[in-house]
Amino acid sequence: MIRLILNLPYSILGSLIALISIPKKISLHKNPGAVIVTVEKLWWRFGYLKNIRATAVGNLVILGPNIEHKDLEHELIHIEQYQRMPIIQPILYYIELLKNGYQNNKYEIEAYRKAGNAYKNNFNI
Ligand SMILES: [Zn+2]
Repeated sequence: MIRLILNLPYSILGSLIALISIPKKISLHKNPGAVIVTVEKLWWRFGYLKNIRATAVGNLVILGPNIEHKDLEHELIHIEQYQRMPIIQPILYYIELLKNGYQNNKYEIEAYRKAGNAYKNNFNI
């Protein structure tokens, strides 16, 4: 419970991102605890994020219209990472991203390995 609260600022940010992406369907996931929002369009994507299909922010998973097999599972691994390292997870993620890029980011490697999906040109964060 405390981990959910510690990640609340990120969950609020995730809620805002979901809201501007036009939510279509909202559901709850247990273990890891997460709110899953399927949205109409990830229109705000830019830069290295421009091809993402889904994302996890705080305790929210945002699934875009073009999700593929195992994308939800991938994002739930990121939710577990947020819960393992509350507050600092996004900072650790971006340090890792700057050091090693996306494909060699240890948090992405873990998410792809545990979810059983593979990196492609359009991907998950
Ligand atoms: Zn990822």
